[in-house]
Amino acid sequence: MLGLLAGAGHEIVPEEQADLVLVNTCSFIGDATSESVRTILELAGSGKKIVVTGCLAQRHQADLWDSLPEVAAFLGTADFDRIVEVVRRVEGGERCNAVTPLPLVGAPVLNKDLPRLFTSLGPSAYLKIAEGCDHSCSFCIIPQMRGRYVSRERPAILREARQLAAAGVKELVLIAEDTTRYGQKETGKFRLAALLHDLAEVDGIDWIRILYAYPNYMTQELLEAVRDVPKVVKYLDMPLQHTHPDVLRAMRRPRHEPPDELVARMRATVPGLVIRTTLIMGFPGETPGHVDHVLEFLSRERLEHVGAFAYSPEQGTPAADLKPTVPKRERNRRRRLVMELQQEVSRTLHEGLVGKTLDCLIEAIDVKTGEALGRTYRDAPEIDGTTYVTGEPAALPGEIVPVRITRTGPYDLHGEFVPDPQADGPRSSSGRARPRQDS
Ligand code: SF4
Repeated sequence: MLGLLAGAGHEIVPEEQADLVLVNTCSFIGDATSESVRTILELAGSGKKIVVTGCLAQRHQADLWDSLPEVAAFLGTADFDRIVEVVRRVEGGERCNAVTPLPLVGAPVLNKDLPRLFTSLGPSAYLKIAEGCDHSCSFCIIPQMRGRYVSRERPAILREARQLAAAGVKELVLIAEDTTRYGQKETGKFRLAALLHDLAEVDGIDWIRILYAYPNYMTQELLEAVRDVPKVVKYLDMPLQHTHPDVLRAMRRPRHEPPDELVARMRATVPGLVIRTTLIMGFPGETPGHVDHVLEFLSRERLEHVGAFAYSPEQGTPAADLKPTVPKRERNRRRRLVMELQQEVSRTLHEGLVGKTLDCLIEAIDVKTGEALGRTYRDAPEIDGTTYVTGEPAALPGEIVPVRITRTGPYDLHGEFVPDPQADGPRSSSGRARPRQDS
């Protein structure tokens, strides 16, 4: 949307200076919905024109049309390419509802060549490879907001990847509601592995990272591509949501191999693989035995990153009516148990990195301390930790350089630049270290 607006001659400015504010919303859980509405209400008295886009608009526009008369336009999740037209109408004094009721059926918008304008991720950029979801997890509202699963066409993805590389992006972070299913619905074959090979050919891109890899489509071919394609970082984000089969059944998660076996297969295929998962604690019917099952799994498998959430019932989902519920305080306690255990696991795993040299993508320089801030392949942008780097020769944002780890905590790493990069590994032709990742 920013790219389209800039291309149409609009100036993108900080909110305080704007005549029109675009509020791009989330509505995945109650808290996100409240935050989105709060943001809109805060802007309501400002005299600025307000355009609300994204999931809140998609999900609640029928209610919000009357209750938020301050909003000049609503734009649905599959309607973002109409932003210039909508802004023009709003500037002309019109109030408009541009929400297509069934998002992304056929999703022609996904395959359009749209310009991108970057905001905050520095040398990394998200690259959407599919949209929507055909699963029906009982706690999840996403399919109702994003529509049925549809893969983007490969040429459109590659064109965008080249566009990102030309803009200086070094790391592509592949996203979708379900990345591992890429291509299967349209062609009958899982195509993510082939896409990784294609993306690795894009000049200028050094790292490719996969988020939201659904556990029941974790094909051997994909794991081998993660192992064999040098630019693909040895990192997989795989949301399990729970480990106990009873709870997984109540969550209506599609069947997949038992989590222990799956993790063992992943680790056996991809040496050095870093695994992130997310878990929901306190789902209706979850017993203390189910909680122990999760804790024992985490102690045994020692995943590198875990995000745990207390279950929050979502209106309009089947789980919202399930009984018996777990009291909110207990849901939070169970979440805390998971996070405390995981902190210890992460702390120990990080301690094992001290003295090792890892490639680090420099993202920014702290002007106060002079420290470089970056990430190794072990950490995804925005969700995992930061690596703080000191010493000479300093590197610039966007460079991937070897860093020796000197100190660690449960989430972040501290290290120093390796003085002579040649001593620790060859540099890429562009002057950046090759994605060797770990030594
Ligand atoms: S896989 Fe389940 S949790 Fe993920 S988006 Fe689809 S329905 Fe929601």
